Order: sequence, then structure tokens, then C-alpha cells
Amino acid sequence: MKRVIFSLAFGILLVLGANAQKPKSVPYSVRMMKSSTQRTEIILPQVKGYNIYKGDFHIHTSYSDGVINPAGRVVEAWLDGLDIIAITDHYEGHSGVKKFLKVTAPYNEDGQPTPYQTTAKVGSVKIDFNAIHDEAAKQLEKSGYPMLLIKGCEMARNNQTHGHFNCLFLKDINGLYDKDLMVAFKRVYDQGGIVIHNHPGWRRKTTDKTEFHEAAYSAGLISGVEVVNGHTFYPHIVKRCIDEKLTMFANTDIHSSSYYPRMSPDVFRTMTLVLAKELTEKDVKDAILKRRTLAYVAGNVIGEEKWLVELFNESIDCRIVQENNEKGTRKFQLTNHSSIPYTIRKGKKTYVLEPLRSVFINLGKDKEGKKYIKPEFRVENMWHVDYKHPTINIELDK
Ligand SMILES: [Zn+2]
Ligand SMILES: [Zn+2]
Repeated sequence: MKRVIFSLAFGILLVLGANAQKPKSVPYSVRMMKSSTQRTEIILPQVKGYNIYKGDFHIHTSYSDGVINPAGRVVEAWLDGLDIIAITDHYEGHSGVKKFLKVTAPYNEDGQPTPYQTTAKVGSVKIDFNAIHDEAAKQLEKSGYPMLLIKGCEMARNNQTHGHFNCLFLKDINGLYDKDLMVAFKRVYDQGGIVIHNHPGWRRKTTDKTEFHEAAYSAGLISGVEVVNGHTFYPHIVKRCIDEKLTMFANTDIHSSSYYPRMSPDVFRTMTLVLAKELTEKDVKDAILKRRTLAYVAGNVIGEEKWLVELFNESIDCRIVQENNEKGTRKFQLTNHSSIPYTIRKGKKTYVLEPLRSVFINLGKDKEGKKYIKPEFRVENMWHVDYKHPTINIELDK
């Protein structure tokens, strides 16, 4: 193989040599030109026969306290590499309510904007909350993006006693409202929806459950919790999710006007990785109910250890490229086929497995000189229960 490459390179040099009289400028690579209209593709492997879809289940628009309209959120999510989104505007408070009422006027019997009273009386005001979702759906259809849009909203009450909750997989957002959140949650489940507990430590000194939380969780009215909201990670919630069989979510809760800040080309928007058969509402909901999710934030992956191990092993190809029995050494080639860089550690040595690159690692034999040391590493940008990194024995490719 080496000889072939050498002669090919030599051949190219000869051709260049023949045409080398006049210097020519080289066109700029397309990669050097920035484009704000290209989608970031986040390549992840299949895991146990499931595809990994990228979702954000917590997004605000200008109809509540965000500053981008639903159509803008659809385009933005698509460019950020997402496959699934839910627009989840506040049910109880709409700063952009005047604009909202104007837009939803055609949904009213008289075609006129409804006079808005106070946020407390939102339940009695004729607002079509479904119109926010419809506006996003219209954009999705127009663009033709193969993205799944899930109908949702956020219910928010006193932070100290109740907190905020996202209601997802809804059929009709209107009529869910009740002063008693437990009643509202039951209505969500009656529609085939689910409730997730958002940012459990926000504006509170603890992530511990309140009396209301105890009641809602034990009544089976909470299906999942945000272990990550924006860039905030709640490590204690990982344990809660595992102990109580709840689904882990990482959502942006995006309100801002610009695209979600990327720290580097390899660091993506906060997202929930969903392990589902197909990109359909049925399969995505099934994945969520069966807790096949991982949380992604700022280059870190958080979740149940078994899924972390699967994701890592499917992302990395590992093979022995050299073995010297006399010296007792082995050289491993580790190739990362995914878009997520992994930082692995063995003893005092740390290696970064960059996307679509290989590293070579030498491992010898154990102290007795009998057995070869296994390619077992602690993956430092993966987190499971109790704020711990998993230690993964990398499978050798056959
Ligand atoms: Zn909230
Ligand atoms: Zn929110």
C-alpha cells in the first residue's frame, strides 16, 4: 500500500512539474468560507439498532418571553443540527401577548384579537395556544426539513413550592390550564402527553423535592427531569432519574435572539440524544418513556452507564496495529467515527480522541509481565451517577 501511495504522489509531482511554469492561485476551500445557511451535521453511531436523534424539548418564542418567532426557532434548530424540537412557551405568562393575540385573532369566532386581562386570568382568556405550534409547523412544511415537531408548553408556578414543568406530546394545549397543577398534569396525561420537571434548582437553594414534587412524582405525573438546562448541570438529578426510573433531558430553554453560542466547531448546542427506531412521534415517545436518552452539554455526555458505554464503543474503532511479544508491547489505533470528541485517561496519561481522527496508544503487560494490559480508559467527558466518569474497556474490532 505504501508503495502505491508513494508512486501516486510521485506521479502527481511529475504532472505538476510539467505545468509549473506559471504560478496559479489556488481557490479558497469551501470550508474556509463561513456560511450561516448550512446545517451543522452531528454524526453519531447507531446504538443497539437505534438511531440517535438530537432533540431540544424546551424552546421559547416571542409569544412568551423569548425574542424569536416560532418560524425562526425552526430554522435555527435545523441549522444547529437538531432532529426533534418542541416549542414550549409559557402557559401562564406572555410578555409578547399583544402580538400573540393579534396573530391568533383568525382563530376566534369574531376574527378579532381577544382583549387580554391579566396573566392570572389566562385560563379564562380566549387564546389559542396551539397557534404557536401551528406557526412552527407551517415553517417546517415550507422548508421541507426532515425534523420532528412536538407540541408542547411550559407550566410555571412558584419556584419555591412548585417550579416549572414542560408538557410534551400534547394534542390540544387549550384547556389544559387549572389553578391546581396536579389537575393540569392529569389533563396532559389524558391527552397522551407527558410532564417533565424543568431546571429543578432554578432560583432555589436546593434541587430537593418539595411537598408538591413528592406528591406529583409519586402519583406518576412526572416522566422525566432536566439534568441539564442551558449550560447548568444538576448532577444529583442523574441519581434521581436512575432510582425513580425517570428520563433524563438536556434542553436549552433558549430565549435569546442569536443562534446558540458555539464554543468551537465541535461543541454543539445543548441537546437530548434520543435513541429511537425511526424519527416518528411514536418511536421518539417510546424512546423517552423507556428512558433511552442521554444528555449532551458543552462536549459532555451524561446518562445511564449502559448507554454511555454503548455510545462510546460504537463511536470508537479500536485495533491492535503492532504487537511485540519479546518486548511485551502492543500499539492500539483508536479512531473516532463520531462528531463528539472524547477525553480518555489511563493512570496519569490523558488522550483526546478528536472526531474523525486516530490516536495511537502503547500499552505493555501487567507488573508480573504475564498479561497484556486491557485498553480500559476512564472517559472524562462522560458522566453517570454520583458525578462519576465511566471506565470503559474498549471493544476490539473484529
Ligand atoms: Zn422555566
Ligand atoms: Zn422555559
